[in-house]
Amino acid sequence: MDSPGILTMTPHAPSFYFPAPRAQKFCTQCGHATTHRVPPDDTRARDVCEHCGAVHYHNPLNVVGVVPAWGEQLLLCRRAIEPRRGFWTLPAGFMELGETTAQGALREAKEETGARFELGQIYTIIDVPHVEQVHFFYLARVLAAEMSPGFETLEARFFDAADVPWADLAFRTVRTTLEHYLEDRRRGVYPIHHYALPPPRE
Ligand SMILES: [Zn+2]
Repeated sequence: MDSPGILTMTPHAPSFYFPAPRAQKFCTQCGHATTHRVPPDDTRARDVCEHCGAVHYHNPLNVVGVVPAWGEQLLLCRRAIEPRRGFWTLPAGFMELGETTAQGALREAKEETGARFELGQIYTIIDVPHVEQVHFFYLARVLAAEMSPGFETLEARFFDAADVPWADLAFRTVRTTLEHYLEDRRRGVYPIHHYALPPPRE
């Protein structure tokens, strides 16, 4: 049963909708146009409402996911949505309000593959400041390998280490996490990796 006040019916085709840009043109509190300027006692420009005084802060988003192992194999998903439609990724997505990073990682893994998982340790923490995100990947064990991918996934399948589609990976955080994982697996130790990715060179 849906919560009262939450509209789940879709009045337009799914392709009509898009994630709004983070810059905010209008005030969420009073509807007036915002001004981009440094508010009093602050050091950065914000979207400020000169009508009601609301300051709209925008902070980095968290992406949470898993490195799902099934014996020697890894479970990867091919993306059905932009960005990077058709490319392979580890199961991951944006953390929701009210959940922990671990809960979000498990939720995304389930949504994108339909499989069941046991979550392990936190494994990579990757700062990606040029896209205003932090990515967290947990190690995970696949408990039941029946796949029923959700709408965000074209296909979910297992890969041997030798068959990882390196040229067709969707994101650098996925690539570097997989590189660390396969290197650590050879050595049999899984330290936590925390690093930052610079903007890609053109
Ligand atoms: Zn306002």
